[in-house]
Amino acid sequence: MTYEKHIEILKKQNLPIPNSDIYEFDSSPISDIFQSYFDFSYKAIQKFCADFSIKEYFFYFGNTFSSNAGADCKNNIHVIRVTNALINNLHNQFVENDNLKDLLLKKSNYKVLQNNISYPIEKLFLQCSLTFTTYHELTHFLHKSNGVLNFHETPRKCEFDLEKHLFEFDADLNGAQFVSFYLIELYVRIPKKVNIEPEIIFSIGTGSLLLTFLLFFNREFSYDKNIEEFYLKENSHPHSLIRIHYILNHFYNICSANNIELDLQKLLNYSFDIVFKFFPYDSYKRFKNIYYEDFDKIDEYSNFLFGQSIKNKKLLINNINKLSS
Ligand SMILES: [Zn+2]
Repeated sequence: MTYEKHIEILKKQNLPIPNSDIYEFDSSPISDIFQSYFDFSYKAIQKFCADFSIKEYFFYFGNTFSSNAGADCKNNIHVIRVTNALINNLHNQFVENDNLKDLLLKKSNYKVLQNNISYPIEKLFLQCSLTFTTYHELTHFLHKSNGVLNFHETPRKCEFDLEKHLFEFDADLNGAQFVSFYLIELYVRIPKKVNIEPEIIFSIGTGSLLLTFLLFFNREFSYDKNIEEFYLKENSHPHSLIRIHYILNHFYNICSANNIELDLQKLLNYSFDIVFKFFPYDSYKRFKNIYYEDFDKIDEYSNFLFGQSIKNKKLLINNINKLSS
């Protein structure tokens, strides 16, 4: 299925999507990135929808200046929308700018990794973020309330709804799971004689995801010095530090099951080192401090979400047996 053909069919559906919102990437200087991301996502969506007997589904790039992703369902037609601004922003930040190059130059461990993979390490950041986004949104296909679903990843201030936080938790774990599989494959391919800490490789996943959350929150990486004040039972999404905490733990558990032992403290430090390359402000040093100051609350709330998630039958984590391999 080509993107052109796919959006041609999408336009014929009776959906509240204006044609002007459907981005066609032919003239984009990074059309190859859009094309390969569409191909990857379309394969993922086909498989997931077959596993869950979802008959009608679409994936398209929304045409807007704001970075966002979302999942909707109307008349049983399931749609994932990832904005062109998100792809352009992630590409500009991860691939085109000097933040990561600087990190590569200064931290010899990342240089070792670069010498052992066949493509630029910056692309690995982009790949982790996009893989996460696709699988996160796909998980939302299961999260209907009265046949309707409507998810957008820009966190909104709103009244607390436990089920909403559980849906995000479920989607985050599934997204993180696919990122960790990808990184494990990469790690085991590196020859044993190459001395590289696994935390270096997995920090690319966690660093990339934390940056993606911050991108959704701030809309821009540059000159945004406002950190997200800590909260627990508020807003549409759990706080970014809570999300990154349960993702770190999820990585840890998946790696353990694959005989890779991660040092969580080291992984966290490396992840923040990456974030500080993009947000070199004192306020972001404080962001890291919030993690330590509120660690008990963060850990307790993550455990609370996990405990509650077991009771919600809509969640993917309670329907894993339906996923084909
Ligand atoms: Zn979500």
